[in-house]
Amino acid sequence: MNQSFAPLTPATETCAVITRIETVIIDLPTIRPHKLSVATMTGQVLVLVRVHCSDGIVGIGEGTTIGGLAYGGESPESMKTNIDTWFAPAMVGQDATRVQALMGRIGSLVRENRFAKSAVETALLDAQGKRLGLPVSELLGGRRRDRLPVAWTLASGDTSRDIAEAEQMLDCRRHRIFKLKIGARPIRDDIAHVAAIRSALGARGAVRVDVNMAWSELEAAWGMAALADAGCELVEQPVASSAALARLVRRFPVALMADEALTGPESAFELAQVQGADVFAVKLEQSGGAFNALRVAAIADAAGIGLYGGTMLEGAVGTVISAHAFATFANLQWGTELFGPLLLTEEILAEPLDYSEFELSVPNGPGLGLTLDEDRVAFFARDGIRKTISLPPKNLSAGKV
Ligand SMILES: [Mg+2]
Repeated sequence: MNQSFAPLTPATETCAVITRIETVIIDLPTIRPHKLSVATMTGQVLVLVRVHCSDGIVGIGEGTTIGGLAYGGESPESMKTNIDTWFAPAMVGQDATRVQALMGRIGSLVRENRFAKSAVETALLDAQGKRLGLPVSELLGGRRRDRLPVAWTLASGDTSRDIAEAEQMLDCRRHRIFKLKIGARPIRDDIAHVAAIRSALGARGAVRVDVNMAWSELEAAWGMAALADAGCELVEQPVASSAALARLVRRFPVALMADEALTGPESAFELAQVQGADVFAVKLEQSGGAFNALRVAAIADAAGIGLYGGTMLEGAVGTVISAHAFATFANLQWGTELFGPLLLTEEILAEPLDYSEFELSVPNGPGLGLTLDEDRVAFFARDGIRKTISLPPKNLSAGKV
């Protein structure tokens, strides 16, 4: 039977009601310019979302993009405006304990805006986890692993600098899988760059590339053959269209991963139908939140497609909701790239995340298991107090470069 969408129940004594939604934009510098074919990032902009509930619990979420509007149709600024203007009125007064039902309500009122939906859903899950005393991974079906392998992206644009950075990461045992951002330079220069890094690292580290859709299909055919010869193990989204991905897959001895083409369960299903990839890069924001990311993973599993936990270069909050979701995946054959917080020079958590022995620990406390350092959040808030006071640096993660 086709079930129509029932309005959520109004507040009762037993449920917690959403009382207020708060959003703030945070500007954080990066440790170096991060060069992609679509943009060069010198800082990251986060929108932090706080969902205040009638039981006193406050859930935290985060929205980020790569290079403002360079990657997709949302920016942190558009997320803030749309959450304040359109999401908040749909949420205030609703039962905060029915997270999936409330996201369904938002989905019926707000089209697209997957990144903003992910930020809001994160805050609702954090609040509900705190309320029940459970980590968010338990609300998502139960975690299968406590630690996640984390790849590092070499994206300085300079070969010798990238090799030095990789050596440093190997030395401090933080990363041994390296993703190279290519596609902005002539293809032969890119191949030489990859081959030089592959040769310098030898068997100590794996090398993968992300082209961010920069190549034509013909360039991709040439490039994938050359990358396979250079010892690259995976090529991420060399071309834009799913049809072109499907024509390229399995033609070369190198795995092909879809990233930008994946915008949630529907596109994942379409890609799986045409066997358009060997691997899916699942991103929570691209998927429209954790529950949709789980649906994408289920489609990949059913189609025999491998899984990789992707990043939109989120800060700590966005990284940790991703970690909770990836910790529940039945398969995570290609690890993750949840290094976003390590690209930032500033810590906004009271306790930094644990990156050690090439992995990230999934926090174990209730909700996301994080506590914000509110002084530092206020300090880095756009139009905040940064211009008038100085704040001493605090305990940044060990091994951060
Ligand atoms: Mg990518």
